[in-house]
Amino acid sequence: MPNRRPETDLMHFGEDRAAQHGAAAPPLFQTSTFVFRDWDAIDAAFDDRTEAFLYSRLGNPTVRLAEQKLARLAGGERARLFASGMAAISAAILSSVDAGDHVVAVRNLYGPANNFLNVYLKQKMGVETTFVGGEEVAEVEAAITDRTRLIVLESPSSAVFGLQDVAAVADLAQARGVRTMIDNTWATPLFQTPLAMGIDLEVHSCSKYLGGHSDFVGGAVIGSTDALDALAVAEGELLGGTMAPFEAWLLLRSLRTLPVRMRQHEASGLAVARFLEGHPGVRRVLHPGLESHPQHALAQRQMTGTTGLLGFELATDNLSEIKRFVDALRVFRLGVSWGGHESLVYAPAISYLKELPPERFAALGIAAGTMRISVGLEHADDLVEDLAHALG
Ligand code: PLP
Repeated sequence: MPNRRPETDLMHFGEDRAAQHGAAAPPLFQTSTFVFRDWDAIDAAFDDRTEAFLYSRLGNPTVRLAEQKLARLAGGERARLFASGMAAISAAILSSVDAGDHVVAVRNLYGPANNFLNVYLKQKMGVETTFVGGEEVAEVEAAITDRTRLIVLESPSSAVFGLQDVAAVADLAQARGVRTMIDNTWATPLFQTPLAMGIDLEVHSCSKYLGGHSDFVGGAVIGSTDALDALAVAEGELLGGTMAPFEAWLLLRSLRTLPVRMRQHEASGLAVARFLEGHPGVRRVLHPGLESHPQHALAQRQMTGTTGLLGFELATDNLSEIKRFVDALRVFRLGVSWGGHESLVYAPAISYLKELPPERFAALGIAAGTMRISVGLEHADDLVEDLAHALG
């Protein structure tokens, strides 16, 4: 198929409408298994497990269509969809390391991904992880040992929105023979294409912008055919956390509007960030699209857009004032997750203070008054007025 722009590919790439009665929306293959006319036919399907449709844990036509569209968007050869972002992240990591290997990872990874490496893999498989800030390539380089098999990036990172120089880390890793993966959920493949920068595996939570409607949970791994086929027959088939057809059908629906949604999230996200930056009740705003972000130049170099998930710190450390601010919001609703149509606010302190000792919490660069907001698709003026009211 000719190289079309993402907006067009997300509508038409991979769709065979003539074979589906001309249906504008693709059919949902809500089936667990597939039947064959004879022995030889099912025998051939077993020989071609990564392509043939045999059983929906291994592959399903609705899931495959969503995988093809996502791979196309990200510039990867192949994508595999999982039941959640964490299923995708854990599968990608497990497919990259053996017992006793070493991993280098960004400290401000999404919390459960950090715990998967730092606690679960360490205890179960003796895999050691060295955590680095990630802002300096030299720090990543210094952490690599003879046993390092994988470098895990997340740019921008969770909670503090720190960036890594993706191309520079990919070059370094290639020179040292180390595999790289990145969580690209924040930027989406629309605004950042890590595979083109030399990263081996790109992972996503589809529960955020890719899904965009807060109506399902899903995950994706994108990369080369070799890497993804190996992952499909090992972690996909054996751990079995693959995406179900209905979720893939919802994802296909969502991907068609991704470019228009992201343009609005970007515009409203910046409008809200600029408002917060100018407010005396706010100590600092964390958003890579702002000129004040310490890595703004890098953001402009390696991303083609920014989004609506940002952080800011209230100019108070008094917990009851912080609570009053959160409870005064009316349009922003209080809840975890992000990337949906609705604006959300969340204070990392709510969960971190329960789970981490205060010194580890402080080391992550997060204050009690650090807020995370997901700017949704409501009118930006209503969002600014809501924040102004609560800050007041
Ligand atoms: N990556 C990032 C950056 C996230 O914020 C999240 C979820 O909040 C995940 C991964 C995990 O995705 P899921 O909740 O779909 O498992």
